[in-house]
Amino acid sequence: MRRIDSLPEVRRACADGTGRRSVYLTFDDGPNPHCTPEVLDVLSEHRVPATFFVIGAYATDQPHLIRRMFAEGHEVANHTMTHPDLSRCGPGDVQNKIREANRAIRTACPQGLVRHMRAPYGIWTEEVITTSASAGLAAIHWSVDPRDWSRPGVDAIVGTVLASVQPGAIVLLHDGCPPDELRPSTHAGLRDQTVVALSCLIPALRERGFAIRPLPYHP
Ligand SMILES: [Zn+2]
Repeated sequence: MRRIDSLPEVRRACADGTGRRSVYLTFDDGPNPHCTPEVLDVLSEHRVPATFFVIGAYATDQPHLIRRMFAEGHEVANHTMTHPDLSRCGPGDVQNKIREANRAIRTACPQGLVRHMRAPYGIWTEEVITTSASAGLAAIHWSVDPRDWSRPGVDAIVGTVLASVQPGAIVLLHDGCPPDELRPSTHAGLRDQTVVALSCLIPALRERGFAIRPLPYHP
């Protein structure tokens, strides 16, 4: 497997060359019936667009949240059907996991366009990129990762993003939890820190002259 650095097809940032201070917010591992509505509420309150890399199986369970994302002007993107490490999947399986997720999103919202793909755990292979491209999906990684899933505290999430954000940055956050990490009775799946951090981050980014924009599409 080649490292992400040597995979030019995978975008980690989207500097648009115009000198605009654009930032792109992305959320992985939803939709989740508890966290996603809270994230959507904060985005709506601040009129900010985001891209949701959803797990297809969850999209099937929560189709109304997929419809709400599209209806509120967000992008819904592909994070595979069940969130496997694709480097450990056979060729047919890679294709199935990606295409099934596209189908799940389109079943929830037939008029919705799916344009981007992010590999679970950010583990990319040439095959994942080729399969995504053949499904019309551009590969998107990230440049800013505050590890919000590890619940480091609201201040740590906000501080990490503000310390590392650059024009064109793609920020990785989470509005859900992969199926194998869902543990009732623990805090592992909770995203309350992400929601509070988001409500602080949006005004803080604007104060620093950044504009939060929809992810551009470069097939
Ligand atoms: Zn994920």
